[in-house]
Amino acid sequence: PIPNISTEIKKTTPSNGKEEAFSSPEFSDMEGKIDSKVLKAVAQDLKYDLMTPIQSRTVLEALSGKDCLAQAKTGTGKTIAFLIPAIQNIIKRGPVPGISTLIISPTRELAMQIGKEAEMLVKYLGLKVNWVIGGTNINSEKNKLMSKCDILVATPGRLIDHMNDPEFNKKLLYLNTYILDEADRLLDQGFAPAIDKIHSNLPDRRRYVRQNLLFSATIPPGVNKIARDLLDSSNFVHFSTIP
Ligand code: ADP
Ligand code: MG
Repeated sequence: PIPNISTEIKKTTPSNGKEEAFSSPEFSDMEGKIDSKVLKAVAQDLKYDLMTPIQSRTVLEALSGKDCLAQAKTGTGKTIAFLIPAIQNIIKRGPVPGISTLIISPTRELAMQIGKEAEMLVKYLGLKVNWVIGGTNINSEKNKLMSKCDILVATPGRLIDHMNDPEFNKKLLYLNTYILDEADRLLDQGFAPAIDKIHSNLPDRRRYVRQNLLFSATIPPGVNKIARDLLDSSNFVHFSTIP
C-alpha cells in the first residue's frame, strides 16, 4: 500500500519545505534525456527556455520510470510536465497500432488546451493527437480513433461512452502512459464514480505495463484513495512544488 501521504511529502521535499533543492534547468540542458525533436518544438514553436519546477521534477522522476503523484498549483506548467514523459515512452517503445497515452481532464476546454499543446510538442515526431470531449457526434470521434491515434485526451463521460466499444478497448491495450490531470477538480465535479469505472476498464497492469502520472493541486481523501488504487505501490513518488 501507499505510505501515508504526509510522511511521503517529508521524504521527498527538502527540509526547508521548499523545492529550491530541485533547481530549474533550461530545456536545452536536457539533451540526451528529452528527444531532440521535442526540444526543437519547445525552443522554436513553444519558445520556452527555462523548465518550471514541476516540469523539471516530474521529468526527472517520470523518466526514471516511477509512477508519480505530483502536486502543483494552477499555472505552473503541468501540461508539458506530463506530456514530455509520455512522449518519451512512445519514442522508447516505437510505433504501435493503438493508443499509447491517455490523459483525463475535467473539462472540454482544458482537454482541448492539452491536445493543442501536445500537437505542438510532437510536431517533428509525426505522432497523432486526438481528443474525445463530447458535444460532437460520437461516430465522427470513433472514426478518428480508428485511424492513427498515439495520444488521446478525454473528458470522463465521453471516454466511458467509447469504452463501450470493443474496438476502442483493443486500441487501449497499447496504453503505456496514463495521466489524470486536476484530480481534485475531477472529484469536485462528481466524477469519482466515472474515474473508478475508467480505471477498472483499463488494461490489467499485471499483463500490460504502464506508467501512471496523477496531478492534483490538493490531496483530499478522495485523491489519496485514487492514488492508492492507481499508482504502483512498489515504484512511485509523491512530490509537491507548493511551498
Ligand atoms: P497548469 O496546467 O499547471 O495550470 P499549464 O501547463 O497550462 O499550467 O501552463 C500555464 C502557462 O504557462 C501556459 O500558458 C503555458 O504555455 C505556459 N508555460 C508552460 N511551461 C512554460 C515554460 N517552461 N516557460 C514558459 N511558459 C510556460
Ligand atoms: Mg493544467
